[in-house]
Amino acid sequence: MDSKKEQKNPDEKEAIPENPFANGEIRTDYRTGLKSVFALSRKDRPMDYLAKEVIDDKGKKYCPFEPEKYDLNKTFFEIGNPWRVRVIYNKYPVFEYDAPYAHENWDIFERYTNYGFSFVIIDSREHKLRFEQFLDGQINDLAEAILETENSIYNHDGIDFVYLNKNFGRKSGGTLSHSHWQTLGYFDMPKIVRARLKKVLEFKGKHGSCLMEYAAKKEEERKLLENETLIAFAPFAQLYTGESVIMPKRHVSRISELSREELLELLKACKRIINANNKYFGVHSYNILGYSLKKEKEFHSYLEIIPRVSDIGPTQMVGYYGSNIMPEDYSRSIRDILSKS
Ligand SMILES: [Zn+2]
Ligand SMILES: [Zn+2]
Repeated sequence: MDSKKEQKNPDEKEAIPENPFANGEIRTDYRTGLKSVFALSRKDRPMDYLAKEVIDDKGKKYCPFEPEKYDLNKTFFEIGNPWRVRVIYNKYPVFEYDAPYAHENWDIFERYTNYGFSFVIIDSREHKLRFEQFLDGQINDLAEAILETENSIYNHDGIDFVYLNKNFGRKSGGTLSHSHWQTLGYFDMPKIVRARLKKVLEFKGKHGSCLMEYAAKKEEERKLLENETLIAFAPFAQLYTGESVIMPKRHVSRISELSREELLELLKACKRIINANNKYFGVHSYNILGYSLKKEKEFHSYLEIIPRVSDIGPTQMVGYYGSNIMPEDYSRSIRDILSKS
């Protein structure tokens, strides 16, 4: 493990090396292969994260998701009459369903058209209601909308990756404070998703079983909650402070293979964890991410919650992720909060 032991300062008081990881660790993330740096000398207390401006809300007046401004958006489908959940075509789409598919490659250059799908799920009529304040009935409607949106996207040929995501708060990349989710469909998966798939395939090749199911058993120390259908934990090498994985126990490669009840359970677990995170960090910006792969059946689909309590800085941009809070400390605190709620 440490071949460089002889380089240690001879004046050091302890002859027996204590915990060599006492000042920090660099962990390799089994999901992605990325490195996570836990620099504990820079350790902050959770209260240091308390964001001053979580919600950048310009108010209802400027909100395009208000029920009275119905005609501003084009409906894909709705649940309820009047709608309780409304799925719309994103007015500013990343991927466009009416774009032709083309791919060009020349010299050192490569480009594709942006064929794909960009839907927005508006999951509340109320401007200020946050997802973590939803009642079970609202989460049930949301689960139905997520399943139907993803299934509709996958009914189109050539789409292999659906990315469910939610942003809340100024730091999450969100531009609108009214609760909503995005479902993006694309024919190819981006590099970090491909890295996740590669890790799963490597593990399967070596051990003949599912990496994430194996991980869930080994993450006992960092477990947040568990029930019959799901398990949630802070992964060994959290890529972000307070990051958690919420995964169904049943092996599915896409979220839309889950039943509505199973997805409802997953979303309810997300709600509980976000509420606990809010107690731990103070109300903060966050992202929820969900990965669905159609063809790659070995992939185990799951959701992630990423509290956006610190900014993405130059260390992340070069590929060092990590946190100043150890995943073990984070999960112990969250378990404690959850046990009292
Ligand atoms: Zn609104
Ligand atoms: Zn699995």
